[in-house]
Amino acid sequence: MYSLATALTIALTVGIDGALGHKGCGGHEVMRRNPGGPVVHNIEELRNLENAARNGGWIRRQVTDEASAAQSTDPSTECTAYSYAPVTNMKSSFPTIWQTATLVAGDTEAASLFATINATVNSEVPNIKPKGNGHAGDFSNSGYTAADPDCWWTWKQCTKGDPGNGINADFTTVPEANTWGLGFDDGPNCSHNAFYDYLRDNGQKATMFYIGSNVMDWPLQAQRGLADGHHICVHTWSHQYMTSFSNEEAFAELYYTRKAIKEVLGVTPTCWRPPFGDVDNRIRLIAQGLNMTNYVWSDDSEDWRAGATGSNVTQADVTANYQSVVSGVANGSYASHGPMVLTHELTNFTMSEFVSQYPSIKAAFKYVVPLASAFNITQPYVETNYTYPDFLTYTNQSSGSSASTSASGSSASSGSASASGSSASSKASSGSTSNTAKSSAVSTMASGGIVGGLVSVLAGALLLL
Ligand SMILES: [Zn+2]
Repeated sequence: MYSLATALTIALTVGIDGALGHKGCGGHEVMRRNPGGPVVHNIEELRNLENAARNGGWIRRQVTDEASAAQSTDPSTECTAYSYAPVTNMKSSFPTIWQTATLVAGDTEAASLFATINATVNSEVPNIKPKGNGHAGDFSNSGYTAADPDCWWTWKQCTKGDPGNGINADFTTVPEANTWGLGFDDGPNCSHNAFYDYLRDNGQKATMFYIGSNVMDWPLQAQRGLADGHHICVHTWSHQYMTSFSNEEAFAELYYTRKAIKEVLGVTPTCWRPPFGDVDNRIRLIAQGLNMTNYVWSDDSEDWRAGATGSNVTQADVTANYQSVVSGVANGSYASHGPMVLTHELTNFTMSEFVSQYPSIKAAFKYVVPLASAFNITQPYVETNYTYPDFLTYTNQSSGSSASTSASGSSASSGSASASGSSASSKASSGSTSNTAKSSAVSTMASGGIVGGLVSVLAGALLLL
């Protein structure tokens, strides 16, 4: 428990206790602060803490409602770190947050799975080695050949994989015409509540690519993502360049993020997105061994670059990027498929910019859908008791307008995590592509979720944060 005095003391230490900011898709402004912070057992306590802090005057929530979310571009929204017992208790079974993941000593289940995948990788693509210097994107000495033998996205945006040898291509667009495939990277952002409120109020669900370290830092915020009915995918453990990692590191970056989501949310994702798009056939094969489908993108809003160190991308540029995609509808660019646009819940700007653009996106595109629905994936997680609406079901629910909020709103207030994905019966919609799970003999994680059941208890209260 904590007191206001404690909270204020904590406030004074914010920013001077070795905050581990990390370089996201261009630099995160939302950092982990005060890692030794107050213990929070549930959403109610977190809310109390935030109220106390707010009364103390040191939390500035610039975004508190839809209207201000649409206008605020202040990146300094602050977050109060907290300790959450289920996460605290499992930390020794995970890599250190925001550091390159490796197999955890004594984790025989992970080691066994890695051994199987590693054998496949060494057999199938023995010539593809880790690339570059360090893990921050320095590929100056990669010595890579112009022929692009590894289908390295970072080289020339290769996404075809090597289907002839069982390496699946990346997904870059959605199969439905005039449909915007909606996803947000780098969450859960500790200050995303106003943004998630906006999505909820508009009956809009999205695919959320969560960073494992963020899930460990902000588990209750992660739980809200699932409770709101969003489609949860993996965005690696430490958000670095995947092709720079050894086989073991790349495996661990995916495996432990997936495991963290399983332990905190109760579901095991089957999808991922490489930070910076950095993937090659070696990394594709490792992800495939984990039964994870790779979604890259067709268009980059560049929202992550606006204001980032060393970037000359302006907020006006980001708006222009959004509008460029929007104008593609009138040009007939999306008569047979839809764009998958790279956007983020990274900063106040990236979230509020989407809110600003959403009306024009909705006006131009026939549908705006999460990727699971776009690809008719009605079972997006390994767990068979969670279903998701296919394209037809989702678009029928959300067609019209914000009147459809009953579907999303009820999911959170009803407190049923399994129901939040909504009704999801499902006949595949005609004319759309069905993306079945990748065939891999590798077994999926068997561990049970420590706190998954809590989602149902907490979901209603989450809306109050
Ligand atoms: Zn990212």
